[in-house]
Amino acid sequence: MPLNCVARSPRELRWTADASALMPACNLRFHPLMNNFLATLGVGPTLIARGDGPYVYNERGDRFINGFSGLWNVALGHGRKELIEAATSQMEELAFASCFRQVHPVAIELAAKLVEVSGGRYEHVYLGTNGSEAVETALKMTRQYFRQSRSARDRGRSKFISLRGSYHGVSFGALSTSGLESDTEKFGPLAPGFSQIDPPYCYRCPYGKNGYPECGLPWADALDKAILSEGAEEVAAFILEPVMGAHGVISPPDEYFKRVAQTCRRHGLLFIVDEVTTGFGRTGELFASQNWNPPPDIMCLGKAISSGYLPLSATLATDDIYRRFDGNGNQFEHGSTASGHPVCAAVGLATIDIIQSERLPENASKVGDYLIAGIRSTLGDQAHVGDIRGRGLMIGIELAADKLGKTPLSDRKAFGYVLQASSLGLLMYCRGSFLGLFPPLTIDRTIADDVIRILGKVFHGNLTEKTARNLRLAKELAHVKLGKSNPS
Ligand code: PMP
Repeated sequence: MPLNCVARSPRELRWTADASALMPACNLRFHPLMNNFLATLGVGPTLIARGDGPYVYNERGDRFINGFSGLWNVALGHGRKELIEAATSQMEELAFASCFRQVHPVAIELAAKLVEVSGGRYEHVYLGTNGSEAVETALKMTRQYFRQSRSARDRGRSKFISLRGSYHGVSFGALSTSGLESDTEKFGPLAPGFSQIDPPYCYRCPYGKNGYPECGLPWADALDKAILSEGAEEVAAFILEPVMGAHGVISPPDEYFKRVAQTCRRHGLLFIVDEVTTGFGRTGELFASQNWNPPPDIMCLGKAISSGYLPLSATLATDDIYRRFDGNGNQFEHGSTASGHPVCAAVGLATIDIIQSERLPENASKVGDYLIAGIRSTLGDQAHVGDIRGRGLMIGIELAADKLGKTPLSDRKAFGYVLQASSLGLLMYCRGSFLGLFPPLTIDRTIADDVIRILGKVFHGNLTEKTARNLRLAKELAHVKLGKSNPS
């Protein structure tokens, strides 16, 4: 008989045998994948009730390593008093003031801090509340930038090129940038003027090459071709994630960024970097793009900027860009109620202080290297493990039905591994045949060892009887559908 859980209130989860009982009891059905959440029944948390450092707990008190940091954002882990105090004292001082024709000290301070930590590459800041807004802002900024050009030729630039399979957010501009087929099917038509080129994905090289540097980076030439085919005078910008997160942790070599940035310069378009996931230390550097030369013109930030404690994002632009918005009538026609929210900004400032003072990018680099090496030595020979890759604490395991042919493992089988890890106390990100680890940047080798040990048990099949029983029960949930939905 299928099991089900009944949530009459968030604090009360009961297990029953009546599947239909759940539906009227939970009103959060429009939330991402809520119709799938029973999939973890009995083996993972359907309800996260509490957090402490790198751990989260379900309503029954079971502990889990927060292996993907909430949604890749809780960089400092839970319970940081500094962040709680920053939010509390800001609320006492000034709970809200907008940034519409006025401003307040904390937004100014955060903007200055962001300029400082970006090494002075960017001088002007827009503050928002989520990564989608940071990207949407970059797109609108780019279009208005060209619309206000002195050159009639540049005023016609409005198109965007991005990497196929990238993820940039939920709003229509961001969705159109990602250009995912599943989004076109469900929400199409997406906005016109967006096109994609193949990503630098070595494991499944679209050019049939055998890896960098021998391949000569054919994907970098793809940008040049796409610009010419779209019309060199119509393309406004190229946008990418330094490490493609939702696509399975795809991390191109530095030469790729140099080549595409040069191509952007040559054709007169802007280069936008979406560091919503990579920013603030995840890849082992404060920003993955901090040493790129030529540098991007616009940088989008989110997630770890406030460690997920409050919603915050930022779009940073160079002074060259800003100058076109200076002057009467040229101002950026954009902003929302919570842009530059003082309490979020205060938490952002406190988060950045901790990331810097505790040298978390360095920690992410060291512990990340250790974790990837451990996962490789533990899982490398496993039949279903096709590729293990990563940078810092952004780690991907790509599962294959057959190692040689690289046929992707079915979603259902891949999710089976997530359930097993969950049952042993490790939460992992999963999308299709890709498993992801994005733990808090604060983790040490002891926790890395726990992650490796759990993955070893999962892939080597050393499960306890209790775990195996829970997994069997979870599989009874025949109505669970695993879809390729919104990856964030
Ligand atoms: N850009 C990237 C690279 C992301 O990974 C995400 C979210 N996963 C977004 C943008 C959108 O951010 P948000 O979900 O905060 O809107």
